[in-house]
Amino acid sequence: MLNNELLSFLKEEFKNNTLNLLPEAYGGGKIFTDPLIGVAKASDSIFQKYKELLGTEHLNPLEMWLANDQDYVSTSELSVISIVFPFTEKIRKEGNNFISLPKITLPAEIYTIARNYGNEFKREIVKKAINFFEIEEYKATSGLLSDAYSIIMKKKFYTTWSERYIAFAAGLGTLGLHEGLITDVGCNIRLASIITNAPLEVTSRKSDEPYANCLYFAKGLCKECAKKCPINAITDKGYNKIKCNKYRMKIARKAIPRYSSILKSESRRVNWKLNEDTYIVGCELCQFGVQCTDKNPMQREFMDYF
Ligand code: SF4
Ligand code: SF4
Repeated sequence: MLNNELLSFLKEEFKNNTLNLLPEAYGGGKIFTDPLIGVAKASDSIFQKYKELLGTEHLNPLEMWLANDQDYVSTSELSVISIVFPFTEKIRKEGNNFISLPKITLPAEIYTIARNYGNEFKREIVKKAINFFEIEEYKATSGLLSDAYSIIMKKKFYTTWSERYIAFAAGLGTLGLHEGLITDVGCNIRLASIITNAPLEVTSRKSDEPYANCLYFAKGLCKECAKKCPINAITDKGYNKIKCNKYRMKIARKAIPRYSSILKSESRRVNWKLNEDTYIVGCELCQFGVQCTDKNPMQREFMDYF
């Protein structure tokens, strides 16, 4: 089956590609452990709902396909493959060493570097996966490498291609109270996706309930992520994206000068304007040392604790 061939190919890349390595100053170990993949059909009606849920500029798979100069095809011929990049155990463990400074808490240094270096590896994997399909004489493209990919900062704050929502459609997990995607290998992950006309098998969603894997939504328990957030962007009312994003920008202002000699730069579009040579760092303090860091806590085997 093509799904298995792709997964084996990706596993080899995750194992051997030198872009999946931390710099020597941080031990030179792996950034990501073995990937997971999931597949959704472009004809899945969920992609239309995302326009209502996220914003009208969010593209469905056919729109992204066409925006990338591919020939028109029926949505029933197109699939979207979502790839989960789980951070290694070392990064998940050492990622708990938050840096407390006056008026701000920064993520652990190793996590900031791993997340930043991981972005180049994600782009590399997307290019390699596109090539994998092209060698088999299929067409393939992506949202990540597309000129149509942009952060939208208008009344709402979102992207034209949400990897989390694509991964949800592909059955890889559900959202948590912290709005990260809780997969079978936890929420402390990165994501990317490919659109192709290759004949892949769909990996169905276990549930269409968007928060099924979160202990708070499913059982009224946990809320550990809320306690980790230094600015109370996560409360009983849910996740406050505006507050979170303001704090992310505050972290960037502090962390980028601190690590600029080692960070890799990249480009990204905001409201379709290209910003080149940008350093990208994250926050995700709410994803470390919590019930869903490295597992789906709603999986039966973990439920004995509750
Ligand atoms: S830490 Fe707990 S409440 Fe927060 S997203 Fe994970 S499972 Fe849900
Ligand atoms: S990413 Fe940071 S600011 Fe946003 S909710 Fe998580 S801990 Fe809070």
